[in-house]
Amino acid sequence: MPAIVPAFQRIGEENAFAVLARATELSRAGRDIVNLGIGQPDFPTPPHIVEAAIQALRDGHHGYTPANGILPLREAVSADLHRRFSVEVSPESVMVVPGGKVTMFMAILMFGEPGAEILYPDPGFPIYRSMIEFTGATPVPVPIREANGFAFSAEETLALITPRTRLLILNSPANPTGGVTPKAEIDRLVAGLEAHPHVAIMSDEIYGTMTYDGEAHVSLLTYPSIRDRLIYLDGASKTYAMTGWRLGWSVWPKPFYDAARKLAVNSHSCVNAATQWAGIAALNGPQDAVHAMMSAFDTRRRLVVEGLNRLPGVSCITPKGAFYAFPNITATGWKAKPLASALLEDAGVATIGGPDFGVHGEGYIRLSYANSAENIARALERMGEFLERRR
Ligand code: PLP
Repeated sequence: MPAIVPAFQRIGEENAFAVLARATELSRAGRDIVNLGIGQPDFPTPPHIVEAAIQALRDGHHGYTPANGILPLREAVSADLHRRFSVEVSPESVMVVPGGKVTMFMAILMFGEPGAEILYPDPGFPIYRSMIEFTGATPVPVPIREANGFAFSAEETLALITPRTRLLILNSPANPTGGVTPKAEIDRLVAGLEAHPHVAIMSDEIYGTMTYDGEAHVSLLTYPSIRDRLIYLDGASKTYAMTGWRLGWSVWPKPFYDAARKLAVNSHSCVNAATQWAGIAALNGPQDAVHAMMSAFDTRRRLVVEGLNRLPGVSCITPKGAFYAFPNITATGWKAKPLASALLEDAGVATIGGPDFGVHGEGYIRLSYANSAENIARALERMGEFLERRR
């Protein structure tokens, strides 16, 4: 039997997909399952975006595109970033990729090797750690604490930097906590990073359009002192309910850009051409559907937080971004993963155990409120009934 290289023994997965598979299996067996496990909007892609893709196919956009993406899409990204953050980003530094994940894949490959240290948020998106380990680099978790509103602590992050640190991964608004790092904290972090010019930064802003209570998203792109080593990760998946289309974009400093473009040439060649035209329609077209989706998420956010805080042994701070709640379940007497599993098998509610997002996720479960208000209410009722019964 031919052996695959050992790096593949170190590569991880997203348990969210395993939970989805189990939830689907239970549904097929006739169980009524409410799925609060999955991290994708429950809305369809807005129709004008779908139409743009159909039109692109009719117009004959069937071939390869440049590996870094078609110019009109890179121009649309550049214009969108200017509109949102008043920053100048040349279309020459914008790369179109098949989903936000591909930017993190490229960035971690670019800086990860044995001996290198890469800092990443814990709890955080599980693929960060998985990819770091794949490269043989040392993963260094940056603890993300409830006491800090699930924001990054500049002080704690900076204290973890060593001469071997090659990359710092930031994520705000964050998965799985819904935490948003306030501007003052980002200011302190960026000021501190000036003393560490050897550290590249990847800012995962895939939830950048998803903040609540009138709080504006602060992009790392707005800090000129780090622009020459900043990789900005974004995409259409969450904002435009386009997870299955596989469309992301990123901004890279020139030397990193060329390396990323070569990786694209060596792997996926380019993003599906019709999808790229859909991306132009998404960015340049009306944003009403995005606003309507956010207003629905906001209503559900309140519902979920109020409901969770009424459950025995559960407390939940109000998330400021994304579409996740990350309640503290320590007072229920349950460990997080057994609780998530029992909630699915016994109560028919799919959630994800906090440890699936890192060691600092113990004591929490993640609920995605990308589901109808009615289903959220049903899930909360079942969770309450379960916790009363199985304390
Ligand atoms: N970054 C974070 C923090 C995410 O939560 C996700 C998806 O869940 C991604 C990136 C990946 O997005 P995409 O589906 O565009 O690859």
